[in-house]
Amino acid sequence: MVSDRFTGKVAVVTGGARGQGEGIARFLAAEGCKVVIADVLDQEGEAVAQAIGEAALYVHLDVSDEAQWQAAVAATVERFGRLDILVNNAGILSWTPIEEMSADDYMKVIRVNQLGCWLGMKSVLPAMKAAGGGSIVNTSSLAGLTGFAATSAYASSKFAIRGMSKCAALEFAPYKIRVNSIHPGPIRTAMMGSPDSTLNDAYRSLPIPRAGEVEEVARMVAFLACDDSSYTTGAEFVLDGGMMAGFGGQG
Ligand code: NAD
Repeated sequence: MVSDRFTGKVAVVTGGARGQGEGIARFLAAEGCKVVIADVLDQEGEAVAQAIGEAALYVHLDVSDEAQWQAAVAATVERFGRLDILVNNAGILSWTPIEEMSADDYMKVIRVNQLGCWLGMKSVLPAMKAAGGGSIVNTSSLAGLTGFAATSAYASSKFAIRGMSKCAALEFAPYKIRVNSIHPGPIRTAMMGSPDSTLNDAYRSLPIPRAGEVEEVARMVAFLACDDSSYTTGAEFVLDGGMMAGFGGQG
């Protein structure tokens, strides 16, 4: 039985055309939420919106572009009348050692992941205030908690997302807007390079001996997006099969 925890709510999910964003959009819609899928992959995004039906709208949004954010928020309010939830999920990953990375390539990752998340929070604020409150879920990573070789730009951006989520939680609290960050470990999507189940083999030594699934991320996002998490803000939520728990054990 579907609960009514998203009845009357409207969510914007960036990077919603595929991977975790698609899973989050589909999950929220199945729970009765109206969803705006925002991405740069127009064909894929339109297809996801069409598959969901009347409860979904696709908008083209490069999250690093402030004017496009304004347009996306306006389109959301025009179509669904309000905006209650933002899932800042869009992101790019570059596996490049510092020694080999150009400053331009570093800034490309920072602009999409870090500036994109910040612009999202800033851009939805007036609409969320008008709605009387809301919830923002920012997608960081395990790479926002610890270092991984050859991901300096990505990790910098994900540490920044963790930090700015706490700042926004403090600043937006008077408007009844909660802000939390999620920290996925390896999730089976195109970003991980092998979206089929062979990815699981690389993670056999984890306490939960496999990669994570998109729906497992969607369930955590849904918890944070709705009033089930009404006493939670400025916090970090890890879903990593136990990777950060420490060393030893059965693996
Ligand atoms: P993915 O590559 O399948 O999806 C990312 C989506 O973001 C794509 O639809 C892409 O088009 C979109 N996107 C990229 N640049 C954009 C831009 N400038 N504007 C708007 N949309 C843009 O990857 P995913 O695994 O679904 O990743 C989703 C989020 O989860 C990312 O922020 C990623 O860093 C994070 N994450 C992923 C993993 C993992 O193991 N897959 C782990 C930790 C964190």
